[in-house]
Amino acid sequence: MRLIMLGAPGAGKGTQAKILADTYKIPHISTGDIFRANIKGGTELGKKAKSYMDAGALVPDELVCELVADRIAQEDCRDGYILDGFPRTIPQAEALDQAAEALGQKLDYAVDIDVPDESIINRMSGRRACVGCGATYHIKFNAPKKADICDTCGAELILREDDKPETVQKRLSVYHEQTQPLIDYYTKKQMLVSVDGTQSMSDVTTAILNALKED
Ligand code: AMP
Repeated sequence: MRLIMLGAPGAGKGTQAKILADTYKIPHISTGDIFRANIKGGTELGKKAKSYMDAGALVPDELVCELVADRIAQEDCRDGYILDGFPRTIPQAEALDQAAEALGQKLDYAVDIDVPDESIINRMSGRRACVGCGATYHIKFNAPKKADICDTCGAELILREDDKPETVQKRLSVYHEQTQPLIDYYTKKQMLVSVDGTQSMSDVTTAILNALKED
């Protein structure tokens, strides 16, 4: 199974991608996580990506396309993968099509998790991320056992720079301008599956799994 997760920042793509990756036993590839790991590791790529990310802008296509093309060519991606946060622009989608074709891979579905902007803004202000392992929580919907402490590694939880309200507004407008056209792109390719992302986390998962099964 080769899946692409679509949806605005904060729609729950990452959470659902992890669940689906566990269900299908395939790698979860999050370009946001890859960039954050590079920033933490102080790499050249991290240095280049950081200013864009902190401003709520997209990292330039040329920094992300090759990275994903290399990742999906790795051995563990042979039986499938879930792309979370990529593609985010039409040129990225075209680059992905080319890379997958060169590898003889067929992309199966693009899953759109649909959530209105107002709900996104409410949700993001409650998001907390672990400075240690990157796990994400929500103070209302997915609270850690102990406030501000990661259940998994015990490190501190923070509100990420790019989850702050002013950055979220910017990310939403970037999403509508640059990423939403992908809904049309994948509809035309008859790959789009759309689910209502305002439901509970487990209902969203059920809706996705049912939609993928039906086909
Ligand atoms: P995410 O965790 O997927 O919301 O990504 C966090 C940030 O990383 C985004 O706001 C962008 O700045 C950057 N980013 C992640 N994936 C991409 C991508 N496919 N294209 C451009 N920028 C990206």
